[in-house]
Amino acid sequence: QQKDASQPEFIQAVSEVLESLRPVIEANEAKFRKEALLERIVEPDRQIMFRVPWVDDQGQMQVNRGFRVQFNNAIGPYKGGLRFRNNVNLGIIKFLGFEQIFKNSLTGLPIGGGKGGSDFDPKGKSDREIMAFCQSFMTELSKHIGADVDVPAGDIGVGGREIGYLFGQYKRIRGLYEGVLTGKGLEFGGSLVRTEATGYGLLYLTREMLRCNGKDIAGKTVVISGAGNVAIYAAQKAMQLGAKVVTMSDSTGWIYDPDGIDLEAIKEIKEVKRLRLSEYVTYRPNSQYTEGGNVWSVPCDVALPCATQNELDLDDAKALVANGCFAVAEGANMPTTLDATAYLQENGVLFAPGKAANAGGVATSALEMTQNSERLSWTFEEVDAKLESIMVAIFHKMDEASKRYGMEGNYVAGANIAGFEKVASAMIAQGM
Ligand code: NDP
Repeated sequence: QQKDASQPEFIQAVSEVLESLRPVIEANEAKFRKEALLERIVEPDRQIMFRVPWVDDQGQMQVNRGFRVQFNNAIGPYKGGLRFRNNVNLGIIKFLGFEQIFKNSLTGLPIGGGKGGSDFDPKGKSDREIMAFCQSFMTELSKHIGADVDVPAGDIGVGGREIGYLFGQYKRIRGLYEGVLTGKGLEFGGSLVRTEATGYGLLYLTREMLRCNGKDIAGKTVVISGAGNVAIYAAQKAMQLGAKVVTMSDSTGWIYDPDGIDLEAIKEIKEVKRLRLSEYVTYRPNSQYTEGGNVWSVPCDVALPCATQNELDLDDAKALVANGCFAVAEGANMPTTLDATAYLQENGVLFAPGKAANAGGVATSALEMTQNSERLSWTFEEVDAKLESIMVAIFHKMDEASKRYGMEGNYVAGANIAGFEKVASAMIAQGM
């Protein structure tokens, strides 16, 4: 804790994981101590930080900081997204990289854990500025990654446009046409379903969790936060499964649409026009826009936080429980604070943690890597069916692990245990 005191998000993530691994640690205490397994697993293999200079449209040189944390490659090449947002710092990248190890393990696919990004904010920048930044970022990053070494992907602020510029620069510098990034355009090695994967996967897992607890997603009222990649496709799949989605949010405010969200309007506002969510009321006069705040005061059956870390706190959890919410599944990474998670679990809310519930994105990225290695492209239906079976399997892995350690229904512990076990035995098998 002392060494990383300036990294609260990282400490929060490690505390949550280690706390829920307590029964596993106690059962293997001597072995883990001799191997210094816990000390090893919380220390990244390496942390790369670099200067990213670029020139804006006024001809002014700008400087940002780039990060890549290669956390653990015991079960496969480092894999994890890149986040471009002004609040990015080393602690946030480390928390995300640490979580990624266990999430990737849970998918059952051969991928290790890593994460990267920059404090550069793409919002309001021209395409040329984005390209200039991405090219400069990749000029340094290209020295550290590769299809069998480390395969970054998108995250907040890094979508198809950014991945395209990053891939182009990697190819130019390294002279290699290889699957070094995932989330690529379909014309150059991308996979069908990757765009939809995290949101769709979230709903496949949520449906399975409800089914195994005697409930059905169809006909339920769903509250979603965020209006980005995860939120949009979570909303789409929820609607396809017969649920009604009544809210979405962005970093300036949130909308409530009692008739059910009009997803075409959201896509046009956020993906095409790149405007604020306040525009939504011009499409749907019956809806309400609220500046600031969040969506958790709206009565619902199921809540899906899909925006960012720590966006659902204890007061929000109390409001959800008071309003009859019975399931929360995390589309974002660590959106629920530790005390809010505990409150939800204590009050009988089914709670699926992000490292399981949002693993569909990275799982489909791993399927993209497989297709790149094969030099083949699978159909939408093929990838979607694989995604669905991976998410159902993830639910059962965490369910089974929670039961094995006498904590039935504690999916936070179940996910951490199931993810950890595979990485731990690989690390022990491979020695120091
Ligand atoms: P996007 O950038 O596409 O969307 C993020 C959304 O969250 C935007 O609507 C954004 O608002 C909103 N948001 C961001 N920060 C805040 C904040 N501080 N307060 C309120 N709203 C905020 O990102 P993604 O949808 O890709 O990612 C969302 C979350 O899901 C992240 O935690 C990410 O790590 C996680 N995740 C994403 C995966 C993926 O495949 N994309 C995979 C697994 C996890 P605005 O439009 O105003 O910026």
